[in-house]
Amino acid sequence: MRKKVTVVGSGFVGSTTAQRIVDAELADVVLTDILDGPPAGKALDMLESGPIQHTDSHALGISTAAGDYSATAGSDIVVITAGFPRKPGMSRDDLLRANFDVVKAVVEQVVKHSPKAILIVVTNPLDAMAQAALKVSGLPKNRVIGMAGVLDSARMSTFVAMETGVSVENVHSFVLGGHGDDMVPLPRYSTVAGIPLPDLLPKERIDAIVERTRKGGAEIVNLLKTGSAYYAPSAAVVEMVTAILKDKKKILPCAAYLDGEYGIKGLFVGVPVKLGADGIEKIIEIKLTAEENAALQKSAASVRELVTVLGL
Ligand code: NAD
Repeated sequence: MRKKVTVVGSGFVGSTTAQRIVDAELADVVLTDILDGPPAGKALDMLESGPIQHTDSHALGISTAAGDYSATAGSDIVVITAGFPRKPGMSRDDLLRANFDVVKAVVEQVVKHSPKAILIVVTNPLDAMAQAALKVSGLPKNRVIGMAGVLDSARMSTFVAMETGVSVENVHSFVLGGHGDDMVPLPRYSTVAGIPLPDLLPKERIDAIVERTRKGGAEIVNLLKTGSAYYAPSAAVVEMVTAILKDKKKILPCAAYLDGEYGIKGLFVGVPVKLGADGIEKIIEIKLTAEENAALQKSAASVRELVTVLGL
């Protein structure tokens, strides 16, 4: 039997995520939205690309405006992209309360119909929304994962490849912390063909790459004028979906609920995790310098503020 993935929210990130899953024939997809029409239209359009794309993955779009989530039943993974994107000048944190209400309503419903699902949260502010999803769902912590680090690391890798003039496939970047302006790119653990960045580039070039990575989301928002990034975000989600559905045991930076790891307790923060069929199968603790650890703790403190506002 084919795997089933529900993507909640048929906007830019949700629809491109669904399209990538169908194109790769990873799973059948149910695309949902509170809007009536767009999810059905987009899913049918995707289905009709099957004969050209050589994929038999099924796509179904439904409106959940009336509260009916029955078509999502039995999903292996539920990707939550529902909410409002950032507008120019708006911080991720401005979205906090509006998106909390959306995530809460969605999680209650999807978990009722797919109690065995793994949740991948995308809605911003990411770490706080993942925490909300964990709390509302009542699922074990290994089955609620936030997408941010894969995207932030991909952005850093892109900038490193541009700077060094080598293939992106040679670059491996490492970004930890919350998905906010104080995320923690780690040049020491970022490599080009195995060579650590500090051995390849002068400090000022590395600093510039770190800064551009931190502001990577805002750079796209400012260029697009309306809405926020979706090509790289959806690619990042699909890397996580693939790791889980294929039980790859892949180490990826994801927002995970920390229970003492890195000295952080009871909070979602971006760290390297092993992703497989059970979701987060292991949290990998790497050695940090005092400076790197201070940056991680600062980033965690920003997440803690949001979570406290929401009373989570
Ligand atoms: P979008 O506006 O294009 O799509 C959001 C969709 O959610 C809309 O179609 C809207 O109708 C739908 N929606 C709203 N309330 C809903 C509900 N209760 N149930 C079902 N659907 C509902 O936005 P987008 O560009 O796709 O971004 C989606 C979210 O993902 C935003 O919060 C954005 O900030 C976030 N995002 C996160 C990352 C990350 O790295 N974690 C990256 C990109 C975007």
